[in-house]
Amino acid sequence: MADASVEGDEEVLLDYDENEDNQEPTKTEDKKATESKGHYVGIHASGFKDFCLKPELLKAVTDCGFEHPSEVQHECIPNALLGMDVICQAKSGMGKTAVFVLATLQQVDTSEAKIRVVVMCHTRELAFQIAHEYTRFCKYLESVNIGVFYGGVPIREHKALLSGDKCPHVVVGTPGRMKALAVGFRGDSPAMDLSGVKHFVLDECDKMLEQLDMRRDVQQIFMKTPHDKQVMMFSATLSTSIRPVLRKFMQDDPMEIYVDDDSKLTLHGLQQYFVKLKENEKNRKLNDLLDALEFNQVVIFVSKVARARELNKLLEECNFPSLCIYGGMKQKDRIEKFQEFKDFKKRILISTDLFGRGIDIERVNIVINYDMPDENKNIKQQGGEESKDGRSSASNQYLHRVGRAGRFGTKGLAISFVVEGNAMDEKCLSEVQERFNVEIPALPDSIDISSYMS
Ligand code: AMP
Repeated sequence: MADASVEGDEEVLLDYDENEDNQEPTKTEDKKATESKGHYVGIHASGFKDFCLKPELLKAVTDCGFEHPSEVQHECIPNALLGMDVICQAKSGMGKTAVFVLATLQQVDTSEAKIRVVVMCHTRELAFQIAHEYTRFCKYLESVNIGVFYGGVPIREHKALLSGDKCPHVVVGTPGRMKALAVGFRGDSPAMDLSGVKHFVLDECDKMLEQLDMRRDVQQIFMKTPHDKQVMMFSATLSTSIRPVLRKFMQDDPMEIYVDDDSKLTLHGLQQYFVKLKENEKNRKLNDLLDALEFNQVVIFVSKVARARELNKLLEECNFPSLCIYGGMKQKDRIEKFQEFKDFKKRILISTDLFGRGIDIERVNIVINYDMPDENKNIKQQGGEESKDGRSSASNQYLHRVGRAGRFGTKGLAISFVVEGNAMDEKCLSEVQERFNVEIPALPDSIDISSYMS
């Protein structure tokens, strides 16, 4: 699945996290920030200045409105700045991106036009978002060049970016395109020289290494980098079975931070409810909820691409400001739609699990699981392996999905549709409650707006 196919000049790379049922039909289809930050801010007495960052970085941090480091930043940044290898399980939306962005920008050597930092993640939107975070923090570091590399953009454009004296010092990319550039594609010699890399970062690392095809690509890219470098890996979910795999990429003694008590992974500002219904009652219920609830922005998760498209059509017909994003869409459309949603031009996003991880859209305060995460689908994507510590990947996926709301300690609401008599849906709901030690009650007739709106 990781292989690229060429369509004219445009390379179409599949997303690893979507199956054949998710493919696009052959014809094309078509300041608030700091004010709203929640109660995690201010937990730590120390400020960013205690990390002894370069003045240019500290100034950019201040411009971004970051006042106090979050827990994960407080724990990881000092060691990451010293070049230590890091494996870190960090709660969704609590600022892990800034850990590796600040640590690598502090250390990056820009004396030559060579790639020094490689960051990889599993979706193009996340790559786009991380590259954007680098750009924000580079505001006063004019010598640092950033490049973002994912499929769907003509590969010759990427090759041009990599040659000459504007070659980026920091590259952010998804594994398919990165492999095509760094290892070579259809007999071409590699266009991306990784021999000068000093820092290698995997975001959502369990997602990238659990799926065997993606792991193979990551390994091949990793082999192109020098032995002596800093390696950092992050995710909200790191099962005990994936940990030894992560360690294989590390020096002898990485710094490892795990939230071993799953109950600590729950987001405290997030209200969670379920609605029990029949499959054919979902649309009616969704309509009612969208009418009744106050929301800034909503993400609705569905199980399949076809359902995302159909539901979007339906909501548009009912005059809801919705859009949908899924793998297999043309790259340009995908990023455009992502940007449209980020820019608040649309308020409802319907997505497959493509958006289940990492995506940070500050105004999202409601997540609806129109379809519950599907354990079988997730297991299939992991090469048929069930998690060895007995936790289903559906509960992992639930945690990642609902973490799109309530980011950085803000309030949020998550509502899950559980189909009557569907054992999988019920299992997922009870496992989530047990594992994360949360009570998810039935949705009451009315909810106090102040419980989910900041
Ligand atoms: P992340 O978990 O990296 O996706 O970050 C979630 C959100 O929190 C992003 O919008 C960040 O810009 C924001 N953020 C990260 N660290 C801080 C901080 N120390 N203070 C305020 N906001 C932050």
